[in-house]
Parts: sequence; structure tokens; C-alpha cells
Amino acid sequence: MIIAIDGPAASGKGTLGKRLAHHYGYRHLDTGVIYRAVAYALMSEGADLKDEARAVAAALELDPEKFGNPVLKTQKVGEAASVVSAIARVREALVNFQRQFAADPPGAVLDGRDIGTVICPHADVKIFVVADPRVRARRRTLEARARGEEADEAAVLADILSRDERDQNRPIAPLKPAPDAYLLDNSNLDIEGGVRAAIDIVEAVRAGRQRV
Ligand code: C5P
Repeated sequence: MIIAIDGPAASGKGTLGKRLAHHYGYRHLDTGVIYRAVAYALMSEGADLKDEARAVAAALELDPEKFGNPVLKTQKVGEAASVVSAIARVREALVNFQRQFAADPPGAVLDGRDIGTVICPHADVKIFVVADPRVRARRRTLEARARGEEADEAAVLADILSRDERDQNRPIAPLKPAPDAYLLDNSNLDIEGGVRAAIDIVEAVRAGRQRV
């Protein structure tokens, strides 16, 4: 089974994806990390984020062993990822890696922006996670502070809003729910509540399929 989880920045889709994968014994891919890794490769070289040839080269040379680097989680790299991810050829260069990950047994949960619409349009279950931007900014600020980073909530909110705007309005693979995605608004849910709601969706889809 393939479970696609999409949603805007700081919606909690990553944690949700991880927890769902653990629950079902599936593998998990946080696809945001891929774009972050490409952006970070360019930043480390001192290259322009809009340098298409170098960005494509970085995408083709991705090393999954480096996905755990904590620097990838920072706000600066997230903002840069949003710039490189708008380059069509970068996205194309990353499609096969993601589809292969999804296809490998025993099943997979992928979270990102275009999993249900572009990468895995035939995913068994699609969930689109949303939350009020102010709630997302609050959560992201607390997470950053818990990691010992300084975080200004107003700046985090501004970053979230500008990323939403860029992700939703880019011409290629814009952030939007697939027509058959289930919406999960977790503004008023804690992590456990969000995980339970997602499991309920997966189970409802499975039960529906068994009845057919
Ligand atoms: O989800 P995360 O905040 O880690 O993603 C960083 C950026 O990477 C996003 O703002 C988005 O521009 C891009 N991204 C994307 N497609 C994905 C995952 C992330 O364009 N599937």
C-alpha cells in the first residue's frame, strides 16, 4: 500500500508520515528533505539557487546517506528549498527516486507537496494536511527553540506565508489537494489526535475497498 501525505510548510505532515509508517510497518520518505538537500548542496558551493544546471546536477548526485544532516531542517535551508523546488528540471530529476521508493515492498508513506497529484497519483490513500498558518508558526517556533535555535514567531509566520504562496502558485506541481484526497485539519489536534485521525482515514479506505 502507498500512502501519500501532502500539505503546506509546518503542517505536521512529516511527523504524521513517520508515525503512520511506523504504525503500518512501512518505509517513510520525507520528500521535503530531498529538496532541502539539493538547496543545501548549492548553498555549500556558494552557487546561485536559480542556477538550473547546477541544481539539476545536485539533484542527480543526491546521497540519501546525507538526509539526516540536522542543518537541512533549518528555516534558511527550507526557504532555499522552496526556490530550487520551483525549477521544473530539478523536480523531473527527482521523480524516479521517489517513485522507486514508493514501489519497493512492503509499502510506503511519502510526504510532501505533490505526492498525491504528481509522484503517486495512484496512491491507495491520499491525505492533505492543513492547519491555520498562525498555529503552524507557533509550533515551528517552539520546535526551533526546543532545538536550541533562536526563533522569532512573526518571522516564522512570514516565512510560512511566503513559502505557501510560492508553493501554491508555481506553475509546476503546485501545492494543492488531489481531487480524491482526504482533508485533515489538525489546527486543533495534538500529534496523537492527528495520527489517530489519519489512521481512521486509512482504515475507512481499506474497509471501503473490502466491501467492493
Ligand atoms: O516540507 P518541507 O518544509 O521540508 O519542504 C521544503 C520545501 O521543499 C517546500 O517549501 C517546497 O517548496 C519543497 N517541496 C516540494 N515538493 C515536495 C516536498 C517539498 O516542492 N514534495
